[in-house]
Amino acid sequence: MLKGKTALVTGSTSGIGLGIARALAAQGANIVVNGFGDAGEIAGIEKELQALGVATMYHGADMSRPSQIEDMVRAAEGRFGRIDVLVNNAGIQHVAPIEEFPAERWDAVIAINLSSAFHTTRMALPKMKRANWGRIVNVASVHGLVASAEKVAYVAAKHGIVGLTKVVALETAATGVTCNAICPGWVLTPLVQKQIDARAARDGLDNDAARRSLLGDKQPSMQFVTAEQIGAMAVFLCSPAADQIRGAAYNIDGGWYAQ
Ligand code: NAD
Repeated sequence: MLKGKTALVTGSTSGIGLGIARALAAQGANIVVNGFGDAGEIAGIEKELQALGVATMYHGADMSRPSQIEDMVRAAEGRFGRIDVLVNNAGIQHVAPIEEFPAERWDAVIAINLSSAFHTTRMALPKMKRANWGRIVNVASVHGLVASAEKVAYVAAKHGIVGLTKVVALETAATGVTCNAICPGWVLTPLVQKQIDARAARDGLDNDAARRSLLGDKQPSMQFVTAEQIGAMAVFLCSPAADQIRGAAYNIDGGWYAQ
């Protein structure tokens, strides 16, 4: 379905971004991989994607740095002509009550989880519009729809990216470019394992009990969403069936948001 198209997936060296990169590559899209990590592991990811018959490139832009984001977008366009599918996924978390929340962590979360999507979108959109086809998929969170205590920067950034999604969807509504957000509940990635470890230490639980406790607080299905399921949703949003889905924020969250 995406043969000949190019997808830039920010934060695709791990977790959800990697799941989305795999799913888009399986549909034939060339992939621009981004994110931090060990050079050998990143080369392994590229090889795995290339085995699906697509071309890849890696750019290590730090998504908190607009000049590096610009360099990545230009490099991707230099290699593949344009970005057809932009997946804004890179993200970090910091958990603390607001009075103890370091200002520097606030700035970092807002820069990586929100501002980076403003920069990639404004840079990639002109060529999408010219081609009259494009897909922008923002990986928000159920925290783009509801809040949890001690996540002030994350919740603010995720609500922000849902707002950004709606504005971009309106500004592209009469074109072949769509912009939507995916709002996952708990997915067992390194970002969430850190929170499980913190809970295990705080409550004196083993890993399995801490996982159950984390799910039990918020996710009625008591099961993690998988990166593969989110990848499938991203593929759907890139399909012709989704041509008129614009400005949506789809929760995929084991029932979290239904409560
Ligand atoms: P992860 O830690 O597994 O992956 C994060 C990715 O972002 C990695 O590739 C990392 O290298 C990259 N990254 C982090 N900081 C970066 C920076 N400054 N510049 C470039 N890349 C950077 O986390 P994940 O759980 O896969 O999270 C991916 C996205 O999904 C995030 O936006 C997160 O908020 C969102 N999300 C996660 C969950 C969950 O339960 N895991 C739920 C809802 C939303």
